[in-house]
Amino acid sequence: MSVIKTSSIVAGCRQDFDSVIAAFSNRYPISVLLIDDQAMVGEAVRRTLADQTDIKFHFCADSTGIMEVIAKVKPTVILQDLVMPGTDGMTLLRQYRENPDTHNIPVIVLSTKEDPTVKSEAFERGASDYLVKLPNAIELIARIRHHSTAYLNRIQRDEACHAMLDAMLEAENANRAKSDFIASMSHELRTPLNAIIGFTDILINDTGGSFSNREQAREFVGHVHKAGWHLVDLINDILDLAKIEAGKVSIEQTAVDIGKLIGQTIVMNESTASKHQVTIKNDVTADQNWFAQADQVRLKQALINLLSNAIKYNRPEGQVTVSVEKSPNSKLRIIVADTGIGIPPDKLKLLFRPFSRLGAEFGKVEGHGIGLALTKKLVEYMGGEIGVESAVGEGSRFWVEFAEMAPEQAKPASGRSNADELSDVNERLAALTAKKVLYIEDNEMNRLLMTNILSIFPEMEVKCAQNGGEGLRMLNAFSPDILLLDLQLPDMNGKDILRKIKVQGSSVPVIVVSADAMPETAKEVMMLGATNYMAKPIDSGVLKAMMVKALAG
Ligand code: ADP
Repeated sequence: MSVIKTSSIVAGCRQDFDSVIAAFSNRYPISVLLIDDQAMVGEAVRRTLADQTDIKFHFCADSTGIMEVIAKVKPTVILQDLVMPGTDGMTLLRQYRENPDTHNIPVIVLSTKEDPTVKSEAFERGASDYLVKLPNAIELIARIRHHSTAYLNRIQRDEACHAMLDAMLEAENANRAKSDFIASMSHELRTPLNAIIGFTDILINDTGGSFSNREQAREFVGHVHKAGWHLVDLINDILDLAKIEAGKVSIEQTAVDIGKLIGQTIVMNESTASKHQVTIKNDVTADQNWFAQADQVRLKQALINLLSNAIKYNRPEGQVTVSVEKSPNSKLRIIVADTGIGIPPDKLKLLFRPFSRLGAEFGKVEGHGIGLALTKKLVEYMGGEIGVESAVGEGSRFWVEFAEMAPEQAKPASGRSNADELSDVNERLAALTAKKVLYIEDNEMNRLLMTNILSIFPEMEVKCAQNGGEGLRMLNAFSPDILLLDLQLPDMNGKDILRKIKVQGSSVPVIVVSADAMPETAKEVMMLGATNYMAKPIDSGVLKAMMVKALAG
């Protein structure tokens, strides 16, 4: 737990406060506006104030257009003559007080008359002070300073009040948004949990044996499996959202081959499209050999989201078209257009908010309402823009836009694709005969799961250790060909085991299997010598592919 000292907070606040005050004084210097038809008076006051370097002096001999002058020089105090050709000072005083822009500016009447009736009329009309011309220099300066400071204090107080109200409103909105977010998240978590608990409940309580019908049992377990992966997707998206908000997503901006990326994304979505009886049309032409400035992996994630929505919210025999064009501002625009249900105009503004499913929550289409919120954040994080046009019953057109880049900056293509790596994984792992596997994991259920995943390989010898100490002993006694390692163990951290393995000079490949899904952790354990990293829940296909790779290497 980090401890923050109160004194350091106070010191920090004081520093902030002092800098706010300093900025305020720079913005609002003391500024005097003298309105008097006699140039001689103007000159006398100018000389009186000449030594006062922090006081700005303005003189105006004619009161025509005086409101514009006031708006321009922003006086903190007005010195007002009473008798002037064309206007009289009393009328001007009333005008100042009636106008909201000048209502609060202090006015010192400068008059030749020591007459109590004139004085009382001036105060009645809103004068702040009254001096007889020409006043004593010390007195004039003191009064100018006094009224200006009072006026500036008032402005400062009003500004602070407004800022406080704005901050309170912002905090209230943030609080409400947080509560809404938590309520929606709770709802989205409970829906798949309902399937998991409900179907497993039926299976557990099936003491009468109605599940001699294995097909139905398989179907129920299938629902549980699907709900589980739905939860994983949801948690991953929420973590991504939080990381982007905290500025903690690491992206690698390179020149991404748009045509190639669109092709890959379409291939990945083809089976879902055919399930929904939707065809995907790739409208990118061969001459559109364009490269966008973005992170390859994150742009793919964004496109997959848009494409899968265009398929999900389509209609049978519908179509999705993916195309690229140069936008008017010379950016590369990728467009995913569908012939689906469309989005009503009043709902468009809710589209990119987390958990807002715009009514889809009452329909059959599965989702959790995070995809578009995440897509928007990702696109903007990469310096791009996202937009949409839609017509109910006709379809929607989502687009993302990025700066164009030269092809030379493109990243070299990676080797085998995921799909290639996963194909025939069981046969390939089985072919690596007589392999010894050690799994260090304290959680009994996880050990049971792993041993069952690997039980289809009769040639494989799998042993488990329940803690780090036992694991290290077995590592020497059993000499496994591969180690599967949990990180959070009761007696030590898996990272310590990795360090010890390194010190011993062992070359056993280690696949870390941890519930910590943070990329920083994965990076750290890879630096410590791990061969690969898998965040739980275990995807058995991917794990086996990792094992094949590690054992074959
Ligand atoms: P999800 O699909 O998981 O509900 P998204 O954040 O991807 O969440 O989308 C939010 C909502 O926007 C969807 O629930 C749906 O109502 C609407 N939507 C998204 N894409 C489309 C589309 N192409 N056509 C019609 N509606 C869409």
